[in-house]
Amino acid sequence: MNHLFDQLRARMPEPGRPFMETQARGTLSYADMLAGSARLAHALTEAGVVPGDRVAVQVEKSPEAILLYLACVRAGAIFLPLNTGYTLTELTYFFGDAEPRLIVCTPEMATDIRSTAPTAVVETLDAHGEGSLIRRAGHMPSDYADVGRGPDDLAAILYTSGTTGRSKGAMLSHENLASNARTLVEAWRFTGNDVLIHALPVFHTHGLFVATNTILFAGASMIFQSRFDAGDVLAAMPRATCLMGVPTFYVRLLQQPGLTREATAHMRLFVSGSAPLLADTHAEWRDRTGHAILERYGMTETNMNTSNPYDGERIAGTVGPPLPGVALRVTDPETAAPLADGEIGMIEVRGANVFSGYWRMPEKTLAEFRDDGFFITGDLGRIDAQGYVSIVGRGKDLVISGGFNVYPKEVETAIDELTGVAESAVIGLPHPDFGEAVTAVVVLQEGADLTEADICTPLAANLARYKQPKRVIFVDELPRNTMGKVQKNLLRDRLAGLYA
Ligand code: ATP
Ligand code: MG
Repeated sequence: MNHLFDQLRARMPEPGRPFMETQARGTLSYADMLAGSARLAHALTEAGVVPGDRVAVQVEKSPEAILLYLACVRAGAIFLPLNTGYTLTELTYFFGDAEPRLIVCTPEMATDIRSTAPTAVVETLDAHGEGSLIRRAGHMPSDYADVGRGPDDLAAILYTSGTTGRSKGAMLSHENLASNARTLVEAWRFTGNDVLIHALPVFHTHGLFVATNTILFAGASMIFQSRFDAGDVLAAMPRATCLMGVPTFYVRLLQQPGLTREATAHMRLFVSGSAPLLADTHAEWRDRTGHAILERYGMTETNMNTSNPYDGERIAGTVGPPLPGVALRVTDPETAAPLADGEIGMIEVRGANVFSGYWRMPEKTLAEFRDDGFFITGDLGRIDAQGYVSIVGRGKDLVISGGFNVYPKEVETAIDELTGVAESAVIGLPHPDFGEAVTAVVVLQEGADLTEADICTPLAANLARYKQPKRVIFVDELPRNTMGKVQKNLLRDRLAGLYA
């Protein structure tokens, strides 16, 4: 029994049904998925990979990258995808930490990686689905006896995005992934007739697990685009039913004049996650298309935790109630005591979706779990009377000014409402009197001409004094990583001396 792959087989449609449609390389059917992942699983075994081995993968997005993930699952190996942006120095840390048996990389990186990780086998895979690994697999049989794996065996180690510090390897089991896929198929009403526009990277939980596992568990198909291009996504909508995106996708799509009710008429669902979706974006999307974007909340360590409802009201600025099977509570960060509805505190989650710990970080793992099994997410939020969760920011981004807690999201929301403001990031910077000073980094809308006073004066009417920014810094854009997350640590570093 192979816990994850058996469930996927059990849900598979007719083998001739499409699994992935690609621009350059035509359509892969479910039969192609089975045969391709079988050949790759043989190739892994031939390369010396045994169950429990890590297979580190830093490749461009291609159908083969997905097949390689499935091959690892079938071979009982642990799939370990790495952000394509990582440099050799960063990779050296990951290889040292994970000790992969096999590293699959682009042909350009192979020589450097061989010298960095001399004990690993190194094979290549390029953006066109070619390379030494594929040549190995080409000679292999198209069926494969899946290696036995139980629910708690690891299927993947995914490194977190590194938004708040060094990336940590989250150990994800077969059941962590399978349970979340089953939950999302149901919660979002996926069927074999769905066609997902897949424009996300495949090294991150969003594109790899939320998108791909959900499609596989529904026996549905995807239009697989090698990168996000607003025009390409728009062009695919008449043939598709669903889009999963980060907020930046939606912001960029709104800049397309072709985004209309007609253009989205065939679509049934737009999902957003990985970073907060501005309430303005939600409203504008609804005006233009008639669709309410469904926002959900998850993390590398936990898969998806909450989701706005498919049928009920989707409330902008919230991430919805906990998904079925996920227990979520908000606690006092200091005492761990549960808080009443409406109070802001630490979000903690427990469920079959939640990882078992950080790879080779037993102390960190211990520190992030409560005795009763709840995982401390590091995100601050609250639950309203209807059970909807709102994220107010990360614990690490909380500003403590003059002894008072300032939740950046509250200040950002007030700034974003001002005419002429496109978006903002509120951070705490070292300050000789206050400890930390609330500081606003603001991006103006095109053509707007606002001063520091134009921002601060109206805020004084709505926010307590200790929450008001001491300084406003104007920038052309906020620094974001590939998942569209604002990198507040970069802003803090850049502006560290502002009040010195
Ligand atoms: P690191 O843990 O290395 O600092 P990271 O937390 O950004 O990086 P991910 O696991 O990719 O790495 O991201 C999970 C985080 O993304 C969540 O903890 C949360 O802060 C944020 N997030 C995800 N979805 C949403 C959402 N809908 N609204 C607000 N924040 C979200
Ligand atoms: Mg995190």
